[in-house]
Amino acid sequence: MNRAASNRGLAYRVKGILMAGNVRRPHAVAVCHGCGAEKQIALFGGKNNPERIQRDFREDGWAFDAWNLSKVFCPSCLSKRAAARHGDSGAKAAPLSSTQNNGADVVKNKEPSAAAVAPPVVQPIKLELTVEERGKVRDTLALNFDDKLGQYLDGWSDARVAKDCGDLPVGLVKALREVAFGPIKSVPAIDALRAEVVAINDRLRLLGDLEVDLRNKAGQLGLDLVEVQSRLNQMAADLGVAA
Ligand SMILES: [Zn+2]
Repeated sequence: MNRAASNRGLAYRVKGILMAGNVRRPHAVAVCHGCGAEKQIALFGGKNNPERIQRDFREDGWAFDAWNLSKVFCPSCLSKRAAARHGDSGAKAAPLSSTQNNGADVVKNKEPSAAAVAPPVVQPIKLELTVEERGKVRDTLALNFDDKLGQYLDGWSDARVAKDCGDLPVGLVKALREVAFGPIKSVPAIDALRAEVVAINDRLRLLGDLEVDLRNKAGQLGLDLVEVQSRLNQMAADLGVAA
């Protein structure tokens, strides 16, 4: 399966997942931009069809844009967001970048349209990282993320960075990583080969241990042989027969 190229620019990864009967089936794996929750859905007909995958995730209650991972949210984050919105005073239609807009024009033209009920600009669940938290995350990323390869070093992930830096929301760590260090370049074919390298290394290590063990046993057998041979020679000499 070689769909490395087609996986670029998508909001999800394609990954072979081992199913019952030892069959590996391709799945779309998406990560919630809010909380880092992961969900995988089997590819319909085994094909990487973004429209179809988008539909499947949406049918399962996710906010999903197959080409934009910052628009991927799990049902639980969506409901939290909806609740937060209702708690809001409703004076929240200004885009994030244009500040200084309070008061005056917010109140005018209150039409009871759907757009007024559900403002297009959505506030993220948690806020944002503090300056100190951002510094910590950057330092940790600098040590454990190879931005040239677009890969974490072994054992590291957004989730681990988030945890190590004081249980921060994974989505915020991920967003910072995307901006400051770039995206994770996940290529299914490479992932598969990487897994094979790990497996072969494990087997090599095992064989190495076996080899040491066998050498020790062979060494001991050699010593035993010398000893028994000399007893045989001695006994044969004593009895005057050939050894
Ligand atoms: Zn979520």
